[in-house]
Amino acid sequence: MVKTGDAIRESFIKFFESKGHTRVASSALIPKDDPTLLFTNAGMVQFKNAFLGLENRGYTRAVSCQKCARAGGKHNDLENVGITARHHTFFEMLGNFSFGDYFKEEAIAWAWEYLIDVVKLPKEKLWVTIYENDDEAFKIWHEKMEVPEDRIIRMGEKSNFWMMGETGPCGPCSEILYDQGEGTGCGRPECDIYCDCDRHLEIWNNVFTQFDRDETGKLTPLPNPNIDTGMGLERLTAVIQGVKSNYDTDLFAPIIRFVEKTSGKTYGKNAESDISIRVIADHSRAVTFLVGDGIMPSNEGRGYVLRRILRRAARHGKMLGINKPFLNEAAMVVIDMMKYTYPDLADKASYITKVILNEEQRFMETLDAGLRILQEETAALKKTGKSALPGVLIFKLYDTFGFPTDLTADIVKKDNLSLDMEGFEAEMERQRERARGAWKGSGEEAVAECYLKVSSSGIASEFCGYEGVTKDEATVTAILVDGKPAEVACVGQKAEIVLDTTPFYGESGGQAGDTGYLEGAGINFTVEDTKKPIDKFIVHKGVVHAGEIKIGAKVRLVVDQERRKSIAANHSGTHILQAALKAVLGDHVKQSGSLVNAQHLRFDFTHFSKITDEELQRVETIANDMIRKNLTVQTEICALEDALKTGATAVFDEKYGATVRIVKMGEMSMELCGGTHVTQTGDIGLLKIVHESAIAAGVRRLDAVTGKEALLHVQKMEEELKRTAGLFKASPLEVYDRAEKLLKQAHEMEKDIESLKGKLAAKDSGDLMNQMKEIGGVKVLATEVSITDAKTLRDFGDKLRDKMESGIILLGSKADDKVLLLCMVTKDLAGKYHAGNIIKELAPFVGGKGGGRPDMAQAGGTQPENLSKVFPALEKLLTKQ
Ligand code: ATP
Ligand code: MG
Repeated sequence: MVKTGDAIRESFIKFFESKGHTRVASSALIPKDDPTLLFTNAGMVQFKNAFLGLENRGYTRAVSCQKCARAGGKHNDLENVGITARHHTFFEMLGNFSFGDYFKEEAIAWAWEYLIDVVKLPKEKLWVTIYENDDEAFKIWHEKMEVPEDRIIRMGEKSNFWMMGETGPCGPCSEILYDQGEGTGCGRPECDIYCDCDRHLEIWNNVFTQFDRDETGKLTPLPNPNIDTGMGLERLTAVIQGVKSNYDTDLFAPIIRFVEKTSGKTYGKNAESDISIRVIADHSRAVTFLVGDGIMPSNEGRGYVLRRILRRAARHGKMLGINKPFLNEAAMVVIDMMKYTYPDLADKASYITKVILNEEQRFMETLDAGLRILQEETAALKKTGKSALPGVLIFKLYDTFGFPTDLTADIVKKDNLSLDMEGFEAEMERQRERARGAWKGSGEEAVAECYLKVSSSGIASEFCGYEGVTKDEATVTAILVDGKPAEVACVGQKAEIVLDTTPFYGESGGQAGDTGYLEGAGINFTVEDTKKPIDKFIVHKGVVHAGEIKIGAKVRLVVDQERRKSIAANHSGTHILQAALKAVLGDHVKQSGSLVNAQHLRFDFTHFSKITDEELQRVETIANDMIRKNLTVQTEICALEDALKTGATAVFDEKYGATVRIVKMGEMSMELCGGTHVTQTGDIGLLKIVHESAIAAGVRRLDAVTGKEALLHVQKMEEELKRTAGLFKASPLEVYDRAEKLLKQAHEMEKDIESLKGKLAAKDSGDLMNQMKEIGGVKVLATEVSITDAKTLRDFGDKLRDKMESGIILLGSKADDKVLLLCMVTKDLAGKYHAGNIIKELAPFVGGKGGGRPDMAQAGGTQPENLSKVFPALEKLLTKQ
């Protein structure tokens, strides 16, 4: 029975739905609320809090097909990719989960039923492993499933005790392996179940999550044991389709065909190019999904892993003879295959391919730079007579320029150079250590446990502040003081109050939280900020000014209305801005962050060059056209799937639940958004962009203001312009012309002054000649002058020297708190007197330092009051000589 990968994915989900499981969509590759994890690496990641008993999901059995990446962090299969037939950097993990519901018995029975009865794998090819002392699992496999004893292998902690990370849920596990038959995998006659090759292929891992592991390694039994299973869709598809490699399944065929077409090579003809083709096929999927989930190539953290995967694929392309960017096209093939399962891919297609193309182009530039470095270094090496390329260089080419060592070896072969691979390996090891050390988490905040605890007890708050509602009555359901649940908050205390319903918007999606106050029988509480640490859980942070707030108290809630209005205008403004940016710059514009508060809005988005003034003006014009059209802001609640189908813009980090809110303004703007908005776009009044900047490679930022703030901004600018116009005695509209004219005049005047100064100096020099003295048989002219510009002083000195023919000149001048000294010696005295040395001796008299050539030297000083001491000092110096 040949089934497509798509059909197998669906059959798994359907099977477990029939066993009472709720179908749950894949979460993003960037783990939500888990800053310690590099990528989502298993189906259970999104259920971590449910396993820990910190989250109530409303169901106790779940089935999912989860996007996973294992290319960095604890799970890293990057180096296996292309070599083994079963490892990918990106893959899909099928899984069924029990949160304190069923346990080992059902899990094992259903796994067996699915494999034997549904997809009809031959029993005789299956093996199972269990944790060495898990007799319970042995019994179920042997007695209930009738798996022969010699097909149940007991394994140690390393392979059969599953841990998600250093801490968190864990437990013994049981794997199901499929024997692909003699001659597959390593092909050795002695190959057995313990061999790590592809022959005994692990397809499914059933984890019996019984413990929570803390930092010290201590295992605490979980309140209710859980089931967590994971089966690679690609591996399952391979065995069902009867092929020996994941790459031979229909999940990869179109990508491999694309690589064949682009490179002109045929898959299966040459072992070396086959590796490259597999690497490209795998990495194309990984980069498509990683970029699609909002990761940008960069030099750290997740972005660095993405960059390395992408460059690795690009250089394998080069090895296949592809000399142009092609991964962006491969991504399109992936998107076309996968968009039915992951509808957001279609929406993000233009963005994804642009990001990839941009990185490919960057890499092509470094590729050439790397080649240049290699050429220079080999030339230098040859001169020294050495015959091995140092490991540090090989590593630099590999790491910074993405050169594979074999490519490097190939290039230097013609120069009869070998590679110091030992040195290279040492550098690689150092890099691995650095990478391990460098990942200190993504920097996002983990949700504080106190909120999870309170919310898992069933407490939630309903937000009733849409449609402009800013007042309501509600009941206090929880109180937190100093981050701990409390029964009461007293006068003067800072507290966080949770209410059953609230019109206060809790900070989320970039929108600032509301402020205002709560009041009730004798109670007064100012709300300084409102937060939403978890979905549906809103906390009012502030101070008790009067009375005591107790759980169960009834209070009236009043939001600061004016502030809310400004925030709404700014939030609606960001939607309009995004629509206008797309219209002007293109569909690749994707929000990568935003901030909306009462004063201004900030919008970060993907774009690869500076936005010109002309483009900014067009964006602003389109935005304000939308505002003046006074479009009604429509909101609608619908299923996430339907929303995505209508083409509504979604933000990367899937914070969305099963139902979402769509905010629509006219035909141009439709976004998934939970924020508060104006009712008509006209309420925004005016949108003014005030700043454009770059915040990362490929990410730009716009700062803008709306409404009253926009008016204030325009007024301030006008005021400045008027003040300037006043200075120029012109009207504001004439300022530019007037300023330009005046600047031109000033420039001409400067030129005139220069030439007049020269003329004056010429005249003065005649007068000064009278002051010449003879000291020790040399003519000396030492005097104070009023020229304060160094260059003019030099020119003046030149003139004196011309007139003097033979002698020494020392000129000093002072201005404010500075002194200038100039000394010149005529040519005929060269060798006898040295202007530089003279200045060196004299400068300290005026608090300065100086020196210079034998014929001319200058110095600056800071003690004008001492200038008069310099001249007698010169006389002394010369008579000494
Ligand atoms: P292996 O030993 O083959 O690397 P694993 O022990 O790391 O597998 P688990 O962590 O138990 O695998 O993950 C559960 C299932 O996910 C595996 O049984 C397998 O089907 C699949 N899987 C794991 N890693 C990969 C990968 N890199 N590429 C594709 N599928 C994978
Ligand atoms: Mg593994």
